[in-house]
Amino acid sequence: MVLQISDKTQASVQFDPYLYRKDFPILETIVHGKPLVYFDNAATTQKPEAVIQTIVDYYQGMNANVHRAIHYLGETATMAFEEARQKVARFINAPSARQIVFTRGTTEAINLVATAWGEKFISAGDEIILSEMEHHSNLIPWQILAQKVGAKLRFIPFTSEGVLDFEAFEKILSNKTRIISLTYMSNVFGTINPIKRIIRMAKDRGIPVLLDGAQSVPHLPTDVQALDCDFLAFSGHKMLGPTGIGVLYAKINHLENMNPYQGGGEMIQSVWLERATWNEIPYKFEAGTPNIAGAIALGAAVDYLSAVGMKNITLYEQELTTYALKKLAELDELVIYGNAPERGGVISFNLGEVHPHDLSHFLDQQGIAVRAGHHCAQPIMRKLDIAATTRASFYFYNTFEEIDYFVEQLKEAITFFN
Ligand code: PLP
Repeated sequence: MVLQISDKTQASVQFDPYLYRKDFPILETIVHGKPLVYFDNAATTQKPEAVIQTIVDYYQGMNANVHRAIHYLGETATMAFEEARQKVARFINAPSARQIVFTRGTTEAINLVATAWGEKFISAGDEIILSEMEHHSNLIPWQILAQKVGAKLRFIPFTSEGVLDFEAFEKILSNKTRIISLTYMSNVFGTINPIKRIIRMAKDRGIPVLLDGAQSVPHLPTDVQALDCDFLAFSGHKMLGPTGIGVLYAKINHLENMNPYQGGGEMIQSVWLERATWNEIPYKFEAGTPNIAGAIALGAAVDYLSAVGMKNITLYEQELTTYALKKLAELDELVIYGNAPERGGVISFNLGEVHPHDLSHFLDQQGIAVRAGHHCAQPIMRKLDIAATTRASFYFYNTFEEIDYFVEQLKEAITFFN
């Protein structure tokens, strides 16, 4: 079925979300007597059969620990685990699978860099550049580091449009800057930040850049070599994979030079009672038994996304978001936060004085799942002088019909709360 749009607007992309929806059993759920409309994809995405089945297959057919057993199951599990690493490397065009460190998610990946790289290379008086629109995951690890070593945090402000103030960035960039760590796509405004420009400027000064790709990797084609970023952190569960698995990509020299993050099995080469030597990368950063099923299922998620095509996903979501923004703009009572020219499918808003929790509850009664709260970005809320927003966030399995229904229900909410 080719995309059917219930309004006059015509989509320029030939993309059929219904072709994929049937792969996601949960999308058939009836919520309070209404078909589920799942618009909380920035929090976590739903999982296709292929990913769910991979987890079942792992536990039914190959469950064993990796990198240690010589028996059949151990070798099968190790091969599948390492194949997943290769798939992830290809997905982001990493030069080598050795540069893919499996973590629990974006949060752990950033903590790993802030600790293992930060404690070695950042000292008192050094500066770390972040932005005012960071998720707490890309804020707190740097706060902890800064307090520990006596470094200073500098922040790129955002404008009333939810866009980074580039001039301000140029002013805070200095010979004291040791690292720049930024979100590629905002989980509140949907803004896609001018990462390439920022990386170019950082490279001219030899400053490493970490990208928080939690919201970008699931929605945009990612090429770490073209981006030339030093570190990239992302989460499996926001890109069709299971929870508890994520990735840190890093340039080889950083991985070689960094200290281990945690100690234990797997990350060592030789151990004496009083000292030890480290395993080669990436294992040096993977202490303990990893989330084997999670990693293999992330590989299946990456296969699925590659089959859909990341460019197709980006283009379709752009159409969907433009359509939603146009329809939402017709509702005078709505305040939308952020108006970046380049943006992804994340829309934060408030409906007059209605508390986002009440609105989200109202929408839930109609089967619509949105997020209400500060979205782990309290500094953004403080700057906007609001307590919370309601957030709708899309993925490629969402449809124009769902957006029509969502807007209809917002109209109902306006009547109800008045
Ligand atoms: N960074 C951004 C921009 C996010 O949106 C999120 C999750 O919402 C995170 C980091 C943290 O991801 P996780 O909780 O999977 O570690």
